[in-house]
Amino acid sequence: MAVILDGKAVSAKVREQLKLEVKRMKENGITPGLAVVIVGEDPASQVYVRNKEKGCEEVGIYSEKHALPAETTQAELLALVEKLNKKPEIDGILVQLPLPKHIDEKAVIEAISPEKDVDAFHAANVGKIMINDYQFLPCTPAGVMELIKETGIEVCGKECVVIGRSNIVGKPMAMLLLHSSGTVTICHSRTKNLAEVTRRADILIAAVGKAKFVTGGMIKDGAVVIDVGMNRDENGKLCGDVDFESVAPKCSYITPVPGGVGPMTISMLLKNTVAAAKSKAQ
Ligand code: NAP
Repeated sequence: MAVILDGKAVSAKVREQLKLEVKRMKENGITPGLAVVIVGEDPASQVYVRNKEKGCEEVGIYSEKHALPAETTQAELLALVEKLNKKPEIDGILVQLPLPKHIDEKAVIEAISPEKDVDAFHAANVGKIMINDYQFLPCTPAGVMELIKETGIEVCGKECVVIGRSNIVGKPMAMLLLHSSGTVTICHSRTKNLAEVTRRADILIAAVGKAKFVTGGMIKDGAVVIDVGMNRDENGKLCGDVDFESVAPKCSYITPVPGGVGPMTISMLLKNTVAAAKSKAQ
C-alpha cells in the first residue's frame, strides 16, 4: 500500500517558514500584500478565495478582497487591475479564474503587471519558466514539485508522465519536471493507448479534470502518483482524477483529494507573494 503524501502537513511546514520570513520583513517595515479579485458568484471560486485569504492571515500577509458582481464589464475589471498595479501596498494580484464568459481572460491576465503576477500566468512569466530563469513558478505545478521532493525520490532520469496540457497545470508541470531532468511525456485527449504510456511512468501527474479517471491498470508498480484533479463524484463529494482505491495498492506514494495538491497550491501563492514583496524592496 502506498504512502500518502500529506499536502496539509507539507503545506504547514512551508507556511511556518513563511510566517517567520514575514515577521522578519515586518520588523524591517515591509508587509507583503496580496489583492484577490473575484467576479461573480461561482461557489468553487468563493471557496478558493476564502482559503487564500485565510492563508494570508495565517502567515501575516496583508490581503484585500475585491468581489465584483457578475455583470462587471471587462473595462471595469481592467481599470481595477490597473489601480492594483499601481498600489504600493499590493505586491501580488490574483484574479480568480474562471471569469464570466463576456470577459476575455487573456486580456485580464496580460493587464497584470508581471512583477505582481503571483499566479505566473502572464506571458512574460510563462516565457521565463520555459528558459528556467523565473521569479515566480505557477502555484499548482510548484506545489506538486514540493510534494515530489517530500518523497526523497530524485526526478532526474525518471520517466515522468503528465496527463493534461493546460496552460495553468499540464504544460508548466511538464516543464518543471524537465528542468529537474525527468524524461517527460505529455498526454491529452488525443493520446493513443493512454494506459500504455502511463504504465511507463515512474512519476505520474494527473491533471485531467475527470473524476477517478486514472485506474489501477494504468499504473506501474511502485510509481509516485500525484492527483491534481478537483472534481465532484456522483454523490457530489470532492474527488480527484485518480481512482484512489484501485491505484493506492499499486503505487509507492499517492496524494489524496482533498488534502494533497490543493493546500500546496495556496502555500505556493503565499510564497510568491512574499517573493514579490522582497524583490520590490531590493
Ligand atoms: P483543463 O484545462 O480542462 O485541461 C484538462 C486536460 O486534460 C486537457 O489537456 C485535456 O486534453 C486532458 N484530457 C481530457 N480528457 C482526456 C482524456 N480522456 N485522456 C487524456 N487527457 C484528457 O483542466 P486544468 O485547468 O488543467 O485542470 C485539471 C484538473 O486540475 C481539474 O480537475 C482542476 O479542477 C484541477 N486543478 C486543481 C488545482 C489544485 O490546486 N489542486 C489547481 C488547478 C486545477 P485536451 O487538451 O486534448 O483537451
